[in-house]
Amino acid sequence: MKSTLFCPNCEYRGDADTDWVEYTLRGHTQRRCPACYDVVDRRPARGDDDAWARYTAPVQSSLVAWKAGLHRVSESVKQLTSL
Ligand SMILES: [Zn+2]
Repeated sequence: MKSTLFCPNCEYRGDADTDWVEYTLRGHTQRRCPACYDVVDRRPARGDDDAWARYTAPVQSSLVAWKAGLHRVSESVKQLTSL
């Protein structure tokens, strides 16, 4: 079953999958009317969560490494002070 989109600006009707101009900007996919170029649909881009995870993963892993290093330092300080 085909879904039809309807432009509220110029009343253009077209197939939702093929007739509309799509592009992604700042994490959002915008769908524009090919007749009047008005934005008819706006939603978060697919795969945005993956991009965010890729962006934060190095930060999080370095934070874990930093905490582990801090733990090792505090353990060695404990060993030094217990002598
Ligand atoms: Zn239109």
